[in-house]
Amino acid sequence: MFVGHYAASFVLKTVDKKVSLGLLFLAVQFVDILFFTFALFGIERFKIVEHFTQSTHFDLQYMPYTHSFAATLFWGLSVFVVAYLSTARFGNDRLKISVVLALAVMSHWFLDLLVHTPDLPLYSNDSLKLGFGLWNHAIATYILEAVLLTGSAIWYLYSTQSTAKLGKYAMVIFVLLMLIINGVNIFAPLDANATVVSVSLSALTAYFVFAIIAYWLDSKRV
Ligand SMILES: [Zn+2]
Repeated sequence: MFVGHYAASFVLKTVDKKVSLGLLFLAVQFVDILFFTFALFGIERFKIVEHFTQSTHFDLQYMPYTHSFAATLFWGLSVFVVAYLSTARFGNDRLKISVVLALAVMSHWFLDLLVHTPDLPLYSNDSLKLGFGLWNHAIATYILEAVLLTGSAIWYLYSTQSTAKLGKYAMVIFVLLMLIINGVNIFAPLDANATVVSVSLSALTAYFVFAIIAYWLDSKRV
């Protein structure tokens, strides 16, 4: 799953408005950011396979450190501890802020579970692998992600107020842009020049660019 993960960011932002939307955009993709970084160094592995599913061109072969259920608990807890230790200045709010960030990190696995083919291990790579396989239905995958993203973004827009014209319209344009990019991501044929390195780098770039835009647009709203 790609843009659908940001549904958790928009919803959690309305739970605690002190957390930046940009940070929540990074948190929901935290394990993917780790995965593509690990893939660059050969610590985890995926292979380019044309039409491996109707929606993807890759076989996610080895990712126990980022996409196992045990890893989700580990990274969620780690982010909770780091957030809690670094937010002393927020006083009584630090617990809520830390829980929101940990939930954002852990939401990734549960949303991935819906779309992945059985490649999400319980703990080690040899343990039971889970995935409901919606990726085998490209249109259903697109609709699910579009509904998650749009529904949560509307919820966010109703729960916050813009302080500038930019905050009003730019967020709508940003969401539309993400929907278009996701369409290309799901339906476009495999780029013949794609490699593990190029796919990893473009995924990482997208995660950081989206987070920067989200941070910037969110700062125009209260
Ligand atoms: Zn993932």
